[in-house]
Amino acid sequence: MSRVDPAAVAERLAALRGRIERAGAGRPVGIVAVTKGFGAEAVRVALDLGLTMVGENYAQELLAKHTALESDPPAVAPRWHFLGRLQRNKVRQLAPLVAVWQSVDRAELADEIAKRAPGATVLVQANLSGEAHKGGAALADVPALVAHARGAGLDVEGLMGVGPAGGPERARTGFRALVALADELGLPERSIGMSADLEVAVEEGATLVRVGTGLFGPRPPRGPAAP
Ligand SMILES: *Cc1c(COP(=O)(O)O)cnc(C)c1O
Repeated sequence: MSRVDPAAVAERLAALRGRIERAGAGRPVGIVAVTKGFGAEAVRVALDLGLTMVGENYAQELLAKHTALESDPPAVAPRWHFLGRLQRNKVRQLAPLVAVWQSVDRAELADEIAKRAPGATVLVQANLSGEAHKGGAALADVPALVAHARGAGLDVEGLMGVGPAGGPERARTGFRALVALADELGLPERSIGMSADLEVAVEEGATLVRVGTGLFGPRPPRGPAAP
């Protein structure tokens, strides 16, 4: 497991806050510390720096980090945000741990979360890039999915989207469409923007940015045995 240097992360966090500030938020923008690819140490470092929202993409990785933290529980527990593509059969194990399900992209997944974690806080993920592997419902299908999730008793707080690869400006149109739709649906939370495109996201109205490499440095490559 590659080492996470707390001083380096603190430095990157200061730079990150500067970037958010300069992008002209003038309003609070939450930072979700994305620790995928790093060990539980990264979670401890994030918590020590006051970052309590911790993002994970893979069920097994989240569960493993939770278990690792239990040996020496941090003073403040992480609020796990689940960000990745999620199979229904993983929901049961995650349900006691996840605070915010950011990647709800289909009705069956909403139903399973509602069954295993009644009333849970979720974001509906919209696909902004046309790339199927990034998950997300088509924007046109998002209003019905929001209604479905609400009908299932979930607390739908907002929308999440992942920008396309190929440079931050390419993300602007999609981010703008997501924010417009969130406005229309009366949803306050907009989780858009990652390390590479967070300025554009903040300019377009992000309330949450999800930052991995911008805090922890380059991710170690995922090995063949990774979950
Ligand atoms: C990996 C990931 C992030 C963080 O990406 P960085 O480029 O490392 O900031 C954010 N959101 C999702 C959905 C991700 O998969």
